[in-house]
Amino acid sequence: MTAAGQRAESGVGGFKLKITNIKKEGSTISFEVSGINASIANALRRAVISKVPTLAIEDVRFYDNSSILNDEILAHRLGLIPLNADLDTYKLQKDCKCKGKGCSTCTATLTLDVKGPGTVYAEKLKSKGNAVAPVYKKTPITKLTDKQAIKLEAVAVLGAGKDHIKWQPGIASYEEEGGSFKFFVESYGQMSAEELLKRAFETVGEDIAELKKALK
Ligand SMILES: [Zn+2]
Repeated sequence: MTAAGQRAESGVGGFKLKITNIKKEGSTISFEVSGINASIANALRRAVISKVPTLAIEDVRFYDNSSILNDEILAHRLGLIPLNADLDTYKLQKDCKCKGKGCSTCTATLTLDVKGPGTVYAEKLKSKGNAVAPVYKKTPITKLTDKQAIKLEAVAVLGAGKDHIKWQPGIASYEEEGGSFKFFVESYGQMSAEELLKRAFETVGEDIAELKKALK
């Protein structure tokens, strides 16, 4: 993507698309696309929501949990915490050389080791070298009273929104107006809205290329 207000042209699967009126504000980006049809616009919207991978907690091993939340509820809550990481350093487990067993290329380990009393915030989730960290540090996980404690190890993996909402990186919508499409994209924070859009465009391009290959 180019800077706000500039024009960008690029080809997606043979479509000569033109992007104008790019406006960035915080975690959102809006823009207008012409040179595409409704099915491409919809593919782009779906790509943002369901196809761009992010990292989220998938498995939790509990060593201690005397909080009011049972293990299952706590693990579910941890799964929904958006995580920051260098996403290009991770592979989907199905594509990893470990064949999905789990290694440092496809998984990241976070630990939580807290004792009450007090509120447990997301920032207490720690990873080696802080390679992976919660996007929103002050998200409350639970409250602990005196003598309550949580100690656990959580494994985060790459996934996409089509598999579970916890991997969804943001939302996207569009309106058709006079043959062009006005888009609005908001990131949940795992990556900037621009980055999210860039990655979504890549998957749409790949899908179109795949479709063309299949039709030949
Ligand atoms: Zn692996």
